[in-house]
Amino acid sequence: MQIVVDLTRCQGYAQCVFLAPEVFELHGEEALLYNPAVPDDQLDRVRQAATACPVQAILLGKEVSAGAR
Ligand code: SF4
Repeated sequence: MQIVVDLTRCQGYAQCVFLAPEVFELHGEEALLYNPAVPDDQLDRVRQAATACPVQAILLGKEVSAGAR
């Protein structure tokens, strides 16, 4: 599954980092790094992170084709 984080909304609250540390990483106070191609074994964690994000910045996309860049 592909995800996008709207970094203009992200406030660096880091809930996602706690819930899915293999996908999200916070560098400093504001620089969120993430893996846009979520491995299957991380899907549940990423869904929880998306739900927990206080500003709903994590957008889940099921249909985004893997090869598109
Ligand atoms: S939980 Fe939301 S606001 Fe917080 S770092 Fe993650 S994406 Fe950004």
